[in-house]
Amino acid sequence: MDLGIAGRTAIVCAASQGLGRACAMALAKEGVDVVINGRNKNTLEATADEIRAAAPKISVQTIVGDVTDRECQNALVETAETPDILLNNAGGPPPGDFRDWDRDAWVSALETNMLSAIELIRLTVDGMASRGFGRIINITSSTVRVPIPVLGMSNAARAGLTNFVFGLVPELSSKGVTINNILPGPFDTNRLRNSKELTRHLTKNSVAGRVGDPAELGALCAFLCSNNAGYISGQNIQMDGGLYPGAF
Ligand code: NAD
Repeated sequence: MDLGIAGRTAIVCAASQGLGRACAMALAKEGVDVVINGRNKNTLEATADEIRAAAPKISVQTIVGDVTDRECQNALVETAETPDILLNNAGGPPPGDFRDWDRDAWVSALETNMLSAIELIRLTVDGMASRGFGRIINITSSTVRVPIPVLGMSNAARAGLTNFVFGLVPELSSKGVTINNILPGPFDTNRLRNSKELTRHLTKNSVAGRVGDPAELGALCAFLCSNNAGYISGQNIQMDGGLYPGAF
């Protein structure tokens, strides 16, 4: 299937590893120029080289920095010049007991998993609308639908982002700009590998008998960014191998 997005430009946040990397790779293979972000220069450059090797014809530019940092956000948008696609992503907040989280912990979680995405949308969406094409994807979590007790900050920040972006959809829909959220269940990334507590909660009711391959999520991202997906907006798309225990 020709996704029709060759020649477009994407900002892909937190893309040096895991799900963000998979999205950048999938978009690049469709001919999309990518501006990728990560906090560690060496890891980010290694990923950029892997993307260049897999998709030699496209441009891969890197912005090192924390996606919550205003300078990093501005640099991403300035480097992309006319971004057609924005993939919002960042690391998830730590698991734990809410009794142990002070205000600073909460502000950090909101900055990382809600406010940085909103700021990048603010910086890009009007340009997309004026050019008549835009695709905004937020990687959130299956915890938006089924909150996980040990992930209180993730549950809250991502729910806030989800409801915020839904409020933008009516204004943007007639302007060629779609906004959708991908809700991953358990995927084979460092996020899962590094937390036994998280792995136990995310996989205890597995019906697929496996965790997800990040490339599967990258492929979904590329489709949602495609010309074919212009009539899909405001959706929370669960990708969890059937883990979610409801029909709606
Ligand atoms: P990961 O830890 O494997 O990779 C995240 C990448 O983003 C790393 O390279 C990291 O250095 C970078 N990063 C983290 N915070 C950043 C920041 N503030 N600015 C710039 N770069 C940053 O994680 P992942 O599994 O790919 O998860 C991506 C997102 O999806 C997270 O928010 C995570 O909570 C969420 N999620 C993941 C799973 C899963 O099973 N993997 C399930 C549900 C939700």
